[in-house]
Amino acid sequence: MAKCPLCGRPLDWGELMEQMLVIEDAAEVFRERGKFMETFEGFAFKCPHCGEEFYGKNLPAKEAEKVFELLNEFKGSIDWENGKVRIRLNSLLALDTMLENWDKKVKG
Ligand SMILES: [Zn+2]
Repeated sequence: MAKCPLCGRPLDWGELMEQMLVIEDAAEVFRERGKFMETFEGFAFKCPHCGEEFYGKNLPAKEAEKVFELLNEFKGSIDWENGKVRIRLNSLLALDTMLENWDKKVKG
């Protein structure tokens, strides 16, 4: 799970994405994987715990890609009017990891 690179406390992906929703061409960015990853890596996020800023490239890229997929998979995952993420990204990511490990176990 994503952690603040400065204070080490866990971060909520929904909250992180909400910080990104305010960029000018957000609707476009959140639809295109390449653009999304590029914007994500260079975006200065603010940790809600310690208030320090850090770039997205300090967070696990694999999780960011999954987040992108989840946001595009679920219709209405983003409430553009209120700048909110409607789906629980952290829970979905945890579930996804669990299923992946289960899959490995079964096939292994
Ligand atoms: Zn922090």
